[in-house]
Formats: sequence, structure tokens, C-alpha cells
Amino acid sequence: MTLARDVAGLRAQLAQLRAGGARVGLVPTMGAIHEGHLALVATARAHCDVVVASIFVNPRQFDEAADLLAYPRCEERDAELLAAAGVDILFAPDSEEVYPHGFATTVEVGPLGERFEGAVRGRSHFAGVATIVLKLLHMCSPDVLYLGRKDAQQVAVIRRMVQDLDLPVELVACPTVREADGLARSSRNARLSAAERARAAALYASLRQAQALVQSGETDARALTEAVRERLSREGITPEYCALVCPDELRELPKLEEEALLILAARIGQTRLIDNIALAPAWRSQSAPAEQEALCSA
Ligand code: AMP
Repeated sequence: MTLARDVAGLRAQLAQLRAGGARVGLVPTMGAIHEGHLALVATARAHCDVVVASIFVNPRQFDEAADLLAYPRCEERDAELLAAAGVDILFAPDSEEVYPHGFATTVEVGPLGERFEGAVRGRSHFAGVATIVLKLLHMCSPDVLYLGRKDAQQVAVIRRMVQDLDLPVELVACPTVREADGLARSSRNARLSAAERARAAALYASLRQAQALVQSGETDARALTEAVRERLSREGITPEYCALVCPDELRELPKLEEEALLILAARIGQTRLIDNIALAPAWRSQSAPAEQEALCSA
């Protein structure tokens, strides 16, 4: 694996590799690499000739200065993990390379960016996400962009941007990788105390409970979200939001009639976590759950 710190270096390395018509996959991350990121890399590795991973803790998508400051940074360890997973180029620019003095142009993402995460974290959150992803796409010009379904609204926002701005890239959204008890892998999990970590398992447990209700025929959004809230309240957790939504626009649905997402966000202590599960009405998915989830034993 080679390291690129600036756009010129990244492009020079890619130009050589691309000469033979290689297919390039990009996995953008904010570092603190975990199994979730590595699963994206593995998928990219399986389908692309060249895999680029980026590490950039993007200040423009943080709404709280303390959160940005506390975000884990461990580039040496990350580089080892990414190299072992088969990444060809690690792109890890500093802030001045990405946002030089005078930087002013950003992506406006529209109403989708104002719902749920956008409502809690502010409009600038998804503007920040879309801007950095657009910049990374221009810097790297990948054929395929790999994102995780854990960040369902992020996937929807970027899918919208790719479509709206005619970006020549294929977007692949990969399943959520979870701990053995179902907690979605996240760089933020490390901030949970032992007691909070135990309670955090209720997030996925509550989503699975809603999924079981769906499998027994429930389709009413209120019944499903109430079941989630009730399960969370047993652990003293009140979600910031919990809603049944359509996957593309994240519009709230009164009833489960097509494939939909049940999304939630909650604070456990000081740590904010998000999760979601794909649901389909029982008549659509008699046997298998709607989404294949990757569970880790570690
Ligand atoms: P982050 O470093 O948190 O910005 O995440 C970088 C990418 O990894 C995003 O596309 C995330 O959606 C994805 N990702 C984060 N956690 C997971 C997970 N547990 N499973 C799958 N993908 C994930």
C-alpha cells in the first residue's frame, strides 16, 4: 500500500495504475478503522483492480466542536489494518489540502438533508458530507464508490447527489457489520463505558423486535415505532428519532407496504449512535430478513 498526502500525488499514482484500464474502487472513511470499514474494503477488493481508501476527519460535517475534537485518530494502526485488507492507496490529506484558504463552494443537498440526522445535527451536516464526498470523487475519479448502509441517510443523500449532478460513478451500499450482540460497529462505540456498551445492544434488539412484528403481519408504522421505543425504554433509552421511512427520500411512511427502513438515533451517555433495519411486508419476505446483516463474533 502506498500513501498519498495530496491530490497531485494521488492522481499521479492512479494515472499509472489506471493505464491498463483498471477498475478503481473508493472507500471513504474518517479513520478509526473497524470491521465495518474493512468489509467495505473487502467488497471493493473483490470487485475492483485498484482499491483506494481515504482517511479524513471532515470538520465540515461535525456540528459539535467537542465531537470533532474527541473523534479518535490513530493513523498508524489504521494504515496497518487497511494495508492488510488489501488497500492499494491510502489517501490521507490534511485539512489545508482539502480546504485551502478561501474555500467557499459547497454542495446544497435539499430537503433530504434536513430530515432526521439533518434536523438533529443541522443543515450543514449533509452539506459537509456531500461536499467532501464530491471532492473525493473528483480527486480520485473512481469507477465505484463504497458506502455503508449503517449511515442510511448518508447513502440516500449521496445517491441523490450522484444522480442530480450526473457523476460518473457507481454507488455500492454495503450491509452493516455488527458486534456479536448486534450493536453496529462504529468508531464511536469505543467511547461507551462498559455499562453503556451493555445498554447499547438494545438498539439493534429493538429493531429486530420490530422486524419480528413485521414477520407476524404488523404493518402499522406507529405500532412498529412504539415497539422500538418500548424496548429502548427498558434500558432507559429515549431515541432522538425513530421512524419508518422510504429508503430513497427518507419520507415517513404511515404503513409498511413496500421495502422500507426503520431508522433510529439515540444518545447513550455522551455517545450518539444511529442504526437502521430494512423491512419488507411479510407477504414480500416470508422467509429471509429483508437485509443481509454481517455479524462478527469478535
Ligand atoms: P466513517 O468512518 O464512520 O465515516 O465511515 C466510513 C464508511 O464506513 C461509511 O460509508 C460508513 O457508512 C461505513 N461504515 C461505518 N460503520 C459501518 C458498519 N458497522 N458496517 C458497514 N459499514 C460501515
